[in-house]
Amino acid sequence: MAETIFDKIINREIPADIVYEDEQSLAFRDINPQAPVHLLIIPKTRIATINDLQDDQKALVGHLFTVARDLAREMGFDESGYRVVMNCGEQAGQSVFHIHLHLLAGKPLGWPPYTDRMKQV
Ligand code: 5GP
Repeated sequence: MAETIFDKIINREIPADIVYEDEQSLAFRDINPQAPVHLLIIPKTRIATINDLQDDQKALVGHLFTVARDLAREMGFDESGYRVVMNCGEQAGQSVFHIHLHLLAGKPLGWPPYTDRMKQV
């Protein structure tokens, strides 16, 4: 799959406000935050969408969630609440085709997260 802007962040070719890194993953602040805290947690491995996930990558995806859990605890919003979401494909609003968890916190988050009334498809 093609390189994305996230590879440039992983490789430090462009700057990002990185809050966590380990061998498998990186977490940094979203450039266009939708909540007081808006982090992106990404695998260092290039995977375009959820559709491209391989069975042997289950642990890697689980790892992204445990990073989210740990950051929520460290940043102090684990008890007040937070949202973790991964968009898949254009209709879901995915714009960077390198999977990433959005971690949103710091205010009451509305649900559902879209404004259109549900229509039959
Ligand atoms: P998606 O729409 O694919 O679910 O989320 C992509 C996210 O990446 C968006 O929230 C967008 O603001 C963020 N983003 C896009 N380009 C950059 C960038 O260069 N740096 C950072 N930190 N975030 C980015």
